[in-house]
Amino acid sequence: MNWPRGCRAKAEYPLKDKTTFKIGGCAQFFSEPEDLTELKFLLGAAKKNKLPVFVLGAGSNLLISDKGVKGLVIKLNSAYFKKVALKGSCLEAGSGVTLSQLIKFAQTKSLAGLEFLAGIPGTLGGALAMNAGCWESAIGDLVKEVGVMDYSGRIKILGSKEIKFSYRKSSLEKYIILSALLGLKKSSRRQIQKNISKYLMFRRKAQDLSQPNAGCIFRNPPQRYAGKLIDLCGLKGRRSGGAFVSERHANFILNLSKASAKDVLGLMRIIKKKVKDKFKITLQPEIKIWA
Ligand SMILES: Cc1cc2nc3c(=O)[nH]c(=O)nc-3n(C[C@H](O)[C@H](O)[C@H](O)COP(=O)(O)OP(=O)(O)OC[C@H]3O[C@@H](n4cnc5c(N)ncnc54)[C@H](O)[C@@H]3O)c2cc1C
Repeated sequence: MNWPRGCRAKAEYPLKDKTTFKIGGCAQFFSEPEDLTELKFLLGAAKKNKLPVFVLGAGSNLLISDKGVKGLVIKLNSAYFKKVALKGSCLEAGSGVTLSQLIKFAQTKSLAGLEFLAGIPGTLGGALAMNAGCWESAIGDLVKEVGVMDYSGRIKILGSKEIKFSYRKSSLEKYIILSALLGLKKSSRRQIQKNISKYLMFRRKAQDLSQPNAGCIFRNPPQRYAGKLIDLCGLKGRRSGGAFVSERHANFILNLSKASAKDVLGLMRIIKKKVKDKFKITLQPEIKIWA
């Protein structure tokens, strides 16, 4: 495949280490565009060659197939997509910036509101696509505007009223998210640090970070916790190949020893069946599966 001049895409690029699960095969093509022009050219070439396009953030909510991904995987990882700037009491940030970088930047400017996201290992783009959140808050609550590119290369600025955010979902998933304007409020750096430490402590108590994982595997069904249902089925510690249901948080699957995507999917099937048999509830995956 010939890419247009100025576009750099690598063929058969390993993705495993681009995810927190440390699982998965190669991308048929992989690119980290320098700026909007290169991104637009890449999309145009992918369209011309009928290649599906996937956007990768920090890979913290992803299970990538052992066979890899047919198509073009794009990661907005250049300095252009990681800019953060202060605008009054708002932050304007590129989608490639990590949540921890964003929280730190806000803290240096004495701006509060992002602390509940501390410890979520994603990028701003991934967090907006997934409407990431916890402790009854979600990133969508802070959004004033989002800059996106559609898959034809057209750029739009969407106001908060034009975007639908719901539980671990947003209408932004159909775009490439470029940037966002987030509304925060003034506070003291000391108070912000206190909040960050509190949320990190909650997280350390609740989650199992001992081995590579992708956070919660299943969405919580209405009024129930997926982790509790899985636990009540006696599945903590259940193993399939190198994949293992955490003893600490039953909605976490750990990559204990060179787990394959097949191992994880096998374990997910067992969990779904047991929960369905016992509670008549069909669990839905929260993680995105790229096959
Ligand atoms: C230990 C651990 C704890 C976690 N805790 C939480 C938690 O408390 N709450 C929570 O909500 N999540 C949690 N997660 C899941 C995950 O971190 C979040 O969903 C995060 O926001 C995903 O961001 P990412 O950049 O890693 O996205 P990725 O995993 O790379 O991608 C996720 C989805 O977002 C899309 N996407 C990524 N970037 C863009 C972009 N620029 N434009 C368009 N689409 C894009 C991808 O195509 C994919 O569909 C946790 C994960 C781990 C490993």
